[in-house]
Amino acid sequence: MNDTHPQPSTQQQPNTQQQVDFIKQLKTTFEKMPHDIDLLLFTQKGKEDAFAEGSRQIVRAFRELTSRIRLREFGLDHKMAAKYQVEHAPTLLIAPDRYGIRWLGAPLGEEARTFLETILMVGTGMSGLSEQSRKVIAKIDSERLIKVFVSPSCPYCPQQAVNAVRAVIEKPDLISLEIIDIQSQPEIAHQYSAHSVPQAFANDVLIGMGAQPEEVFALSLSRLEPQTVFIPDSDAELVETDLLIIGGGPAGLTAGIYAVRSGLKTAIVERNVLGGQVATTPIVENYPGFTQVGGKTLVDIMVTHALEYVQIFPGEEVIDVVPGKPFEVTTGRRRFKSKTILLATGANHKHLNAPGEKRLSGRGVSYCSTCDGPLFKGRNVVIVGGGNSAVTEALYLHHMGVGVTLIHRRDSLRAQEFLVKQLTFSGIPILWNTEITEITGKERVESISLKNTRTGETSFLAVDGVFLSIGYEPSVELARKAGVALTPDGFIQKDAKHRTNIPGIYSAGDVEGGYKQIVTAAGQGAEAAMAIFEDMINPYWQKS
Ligand code: NAP
Repeated sequence: MNDTHPQPSTQQQPNTQQQVDFIKQLKTTFEKMPHDIDLLLFTQKGKEDAFAEGSRQIVRAFRELTSRIRLREFGLDHKMAAKYQVEHAPTLLIAPDRYGIRWLGAPLGEEARTFLETILMVGTGMSGLSEQSRKVIAKIDSERLIKVFVSPSCPYCPQQAVNAVRAVIEKPDLISLEIIDIQSQPEIAHQYSAHSVPQAFANDVLIGMGAQPEEVFALSLSRLEPQTVFIPDSDAELVETDLLIIGGGPAGLTAGIYAVRSGLKTAIVERNVLGGQVATTPIVENYPGFTQVGGKTLVDIMVTHALEYVQIFPGEEVIDVVPGKPFEVTTGRRRFKSKTILLATGANHKHLNAPGEKRLSGRGVSYCSTCDGPLFKGRNVVIVGGGNSAVTEALYLHHMGVGVTLIHRRDSLRAQEFLVKQLTFSGIPILWNTEITEITGKERVESISLKNTRTGETSFLAVDGVFLSIGYEPSVELARKAGVALTPDGFIQKDAKHRTNIPGIYSAGDVEGGYKQIVTAAGQGAEAAMAIFEDMINPYWQKS
């Protein structure tokens, strides 16, 4: 993220002074922009379109802050549509005289963040790319048309969409971009079989499924094939810290607050979306202080709080941790030397490992109902699992108008009674004692094969989507690399002070196992930070 740009906050109960300061800073930034911004909105004349209205509203909100933005609207039959080869409504062109950036749909929900970043980049002409990414983009010598599929409820999407905007700003002569909202343009999503978001294509080749760290995206764009790792040059920036926290979920964010307040020079690195699993939890009803709060809203509040204290590097993947004094940590963008490390790497969703699952992942098989749910409105899907996540997500899909059936391998749910009651009340059908044995479909999910675990009876069900919510497994790749000992169940082995077997490396949150609640993860983060502070003053490993 470009450090010179103010960072938006979407918290539900804003600190008024913070909001006033943010808007003031935004206005000043707009006034200083060297370029005015022309926006051209193309709509279907005479047709009520919620997305077109959404675009008008968001532009209106920006125009209240600055006169540097100008919106003009045309019908698809206007000569301007032919001039810019616009075929879909609504389409928003952003500074078309300077850049090839178009938005198919409207920058609503999470995408308002992408829009704000885009306006600031277009207005300043600065991409804010890291030095490492810039070097990769500089080598691109032929045209790239990027298409990024997004949805307004997808917290992962802005990271990938912003990666693409940065590339355009960096090389406008060769790189152009379409940001495509799957809800507004389902036909285009179907055409590309893009049934999960974000998905990025360049010259019609899939280059990234999910949000990629910026440098990995740049490399994928340059090579026109998906890359998974980016190794930075040896001259990458060096940051020295007392504590480096790996993972920006509730455990890592809380640890960051506590560590800095104790006086430790601390940084947090997060490879993906801040907040971890909470960011995609539709509704949280058991975090004290909030009767009911959207997971992403809770994350925004936590991040805003953490940023008051600790430096956060989002979208940066840790590639290596080398034990030593200090530890040496390499990300795709920089190197860290840190006296201590906290592994708050959380957990990844589990796979069913059913035939067809991998091939159709992103083609109707989904692990994120909040991200991908909008594309399945009015269609039929199943959700697999019997825990709190599966029930919460089944209710979420049901309430958004998706025809959902819950499939569970046993005859009772392990979800909390409160959620089970809501599920019963909703009338969502449940297939008990049932397992999916195969997911089938040519280009996208079309049907599933089922087996009754009691009777052995098999059946077949036609569906458009399969949402998997069958729990999580700890993210321990880095721990393994660093030589951290694991429990027989695969979690990080630690003592009561969150110390691992390697002096100076600690753990907190879901990577430790246990109850895996937001509130327990936050508590473990606080405990670990306090233990680290005490150990740094009085190192237990130096005691005889
Ligand atoms: P979970 O509690 O581990 O439940 C996973 C579910 O998936 C179980 O019902 C399990 O079946 C089923 N399952 C596992 N492997 C399967 C397979 N191969 N095939 C079919 N089914 C399979 O996971 P979760 O619901 O994601 O929750 C994770 C943690 O987050 C929990 O601690 C939970 O309490 C917490 N959480 C809390 C809330 C909340 O409080 N609102 C919301 C979301 C998550 P069995 O029951 O047969 O084992």
